[in-house]
This record gives sequence, structure tokens and C-alpha cells, in this order.
Amino acid sequence: MAIRKIRLEGDPVLAKKCRPVEKMTDKIHELIEDMLDTMYELNGVGLAAPQVGILKRIVVIDVGDGPIVLINPQILETDGEQTGDEGCLSVPGMAGEVTRPNYVKVTALNEDMQAFEAEGTELLARAFCHEIDHLDGVMYTSLVKGGLHPIEYEDE
Ligand code: ZN
Repeated sequence: MAIRKIRLEGDPVLAKKCRPVEKMTDKIHELIEDMLDTMYELNGVGLAAPQVGILKRIVVIDVGDGPIVLINPQILETDGEQTGDEGCLSVPGMAGEVTRPNYVKVTALNEDMQAFEAEGTELLARAFCHEIDHLDGVMYTSLVKGGLHPIEYEDE
């Protein structure tokens, strides 16, 4: 278990397409554990492997309902639309408005390399899209309309 260093926007690794995971190894298990530790430490709701410098199709998400690990995820279905602020651990302190589907269904492999499906609306749907985009080298900042702004906190 370890906290890994987050790559920040502008790092070329974040613009690359990631490779599928062919088989589970101890090293990949360790990577997934570290990704979860890193996401929780930084209070993120999702983290993709390229954000810790690894070009593999692995994503972890927790929107408050427990961790979801997605290996080689693919979006199967989307519906509706939501527009709202989005942020990213690779762009600390900033947010910007992005339109995403309001419902997303994905298929992926779990840590035993068994296929499963997951679906979500609102924040979870947004997280699926945002994190899977990372695996194709797409940053949310390229989808923002109207520019980025600093994240505002309630007590300011
Ligand atoms: Zn991100």
C-alpha cells in the first residue's frame, strides 16, 4: 500500500492511449491498491492508471458508495444529459463545466478478470465518462465550455 505521485495536466503520459490488461499479476493488484489509497488520500471520486504514470486501462471510482475497480472498461449505453462542474486530481484546485450523459452503463473486468456490468446516474455516470476518457488520453479540460475556474468552498 502506498500513495503514488499524481501526474499533472501537461505531463505527456496523460495524453496517451492506454493498453488493455491481458492478465492479472501481483504487480497490477498492487497498482490497484495504491490507486485506491491515492484516490482516498486526495479525496478524489475517481482515478485512472495514467494519472499515476501507468498506461494501462484501469480505473478506480468511489462516489461514496464503496470502491469500484474497472479493468478494460467500455461504455455500453448512455442516456440523457447533465451539465455541471467537473474536477480532476491532475488539475488541482480547478473545475469547469462539462456536459455528460446522465446515465451510463459500462462493462469491465474485475480484479479476478471476470466480466461484470455497472451502471450509474449523475455523479457516477460522470465519473465513468471522465475516468474512461483518461484511458484514451482525453482530459476533461478539453471538453470544458467557458473555461476553468478555481474550486469554491462553502465557507469562503
Ligand atoms: Zn481526471
